[in-house]
Amino acid sequence: MNEPTDFGPDRPVLLRGGTVLPMDDAHSVLPCTDVLVVGDRIAEVGQDLPAPDGAVVVDATDGIVMPGMIDTHRHMWQTAMRGYGADWTLTQYFVWYYLEYGKLWRPEDVHAGNLLAAIEAIDAGVTTVVDWSHGLRTVDHADAAVDALQAVPGRFVLAYGNIQAPPAEWTGAPEFRDFVRRRITGDDMLGFQIAFDVTGDPAFPEKPAFEVARDLGVPVTTHAGVWGATSDDGIRLMHEHGFMTPETVYVHAASLSADSYHRIAATGGSISVSTESEQSAGQGYPPTWAIRAHDIPVSLSMDTSVWWSGDLFSAMRTTLGADRSREHMEAHVKGETVTHCSLRADQVVDWATRGGARAIGRGDDLGSIEAGRKADIVLIKNDASPVSFPLLNPYGHVAFQAQRGDVHTVLVNGRVVKHEHRLVGVDLAAARREVERTVEYLRSTLGEEAWQKGMNPDIPETKILDNPYTYTDYHSASTHSR
Ligand SMILES: [Zn+2]
Repeated sequence: MNEPTDFGPDRPVLLRGGTVLPMDDAHSVLPCTDVLVVGDRIAEVGQDLPAPDGAVVVDATDGIVMPGMIDTHRHMWQTAMRGYGADWTLTQYFVWYYLEYGKLWRPEDVHAGNLLAAIEAIDAGVTTVVDWSHGLRTVDHADAAVDALQAVPGRFVLAYGNIQAPPAEWTGAPEFRDFVRRRITGDDMLGFQIAFDVTGDPAFPEKPAFEVARDLGVPVTTHAGVWGATSDDGIRLMHEHGFMTPETVYVHAASLSADSYHRIAATGGSISVSTESEQSAGQGYPPTWAIRAHDIPVSLSMDTSVWWSGDLFSAMRTTLGADRSREHMEAHVKGETVTHCSLRADQVVDWATRGGARAIGRGDDLGSIEAGRKADIVLIKNDASPVSFPLLNPYGHVAFQAQRGDVHTVLVNGRVVKHEHRLVGVDLAAARREVERTVEYLRSTLGEEAWQKGMNPDIPETKILDNPYTYTDYHSASTHSR
């Protein structure tokens, strides 16, 4: 390992000679191209650019340079319980977090989860994350969430939520308004949304919360079309009351009717698809195969690391797989064969970058590599990996071949936060200590039995079918044939 490079705040960065995916409408590929970053922006994209005085030159040869990825829905506080719920269904998740143990979370536990999730994000080249933070029981919890996000050099959007109280209640509290005034100050690195779900109750109890959002001029993000939890009724109520806007982000939207998709498309909102989540929790089938036909903008998200991975390579891969799987299945039911894939690798890379930027209202300055845009950039390059070559189809490479370990260099807002596979200026050991304290607190509070039971839900019995062919028959048949 070389001596750590000095990344002074004023040093330009030149990414030299990579295959650049600028993420334009043509989904271009720019071979042997340089990207120059000066300050917080991309200054120039081109070939053989001269390195300005004092520039840090990063050799991007044999690598892919792409915009930082954007995750539009992650419950970052839950990263403190990484992997605990690997075998859960949505029902078990709701019981564990919503009904039983979510209320145990102290502000320091939200801090611990957010800190680790934030570090994990930049390490994986996810330069912007919407922190769908629905564990904010008090404003102290919210302050802790923001403290953690601001301690890590990534770009974040706090989507303020609280599953322990009705949204009309907490959004109407004076301390909520005070929090917004104190902490959401227009800082380019910290956006803001309000996060709550619409139950479909005909009385529409969420109306005051929507009014607060409108009054503050901030977007609402909502889990919509979640089997057994939210449905077409919620969408209809939102639409009828005029609360569906282009800024609204519908998470999952996996069990909605065509009528709801029409309403979303007509009002300009976008859908955050969490394929890894939808595939195993049970919200409904990952919906890209359906919503493509409605021309609804898509972004990608990972939902929660209590179950799943926190990197968008997995999101791209599983989304392509689920979409194609559904197309094949629908065709086979009709006795037909799909001969051409509709959803392409470049499209999911677009969703992971430009789609996310658009969803959070930053389509003008994030999500693509072009002079003048914010410098949130990822270099995928791993010379030690046999998977790094040949690099024939860069979009296909990102979607199906690359993984988080291949993230070589990451810039956020022009600042190098990862270089040569190592985080820069991040105290991972401190995050580990915080998370250990949280796990210890939760485990001892629950008690060992409840802790183990929560992690190991009962397995339904699988009935092995009667088989008309027996091993003995096979054996005698094969003996006869000789
Ligand atoms: Zn979620």
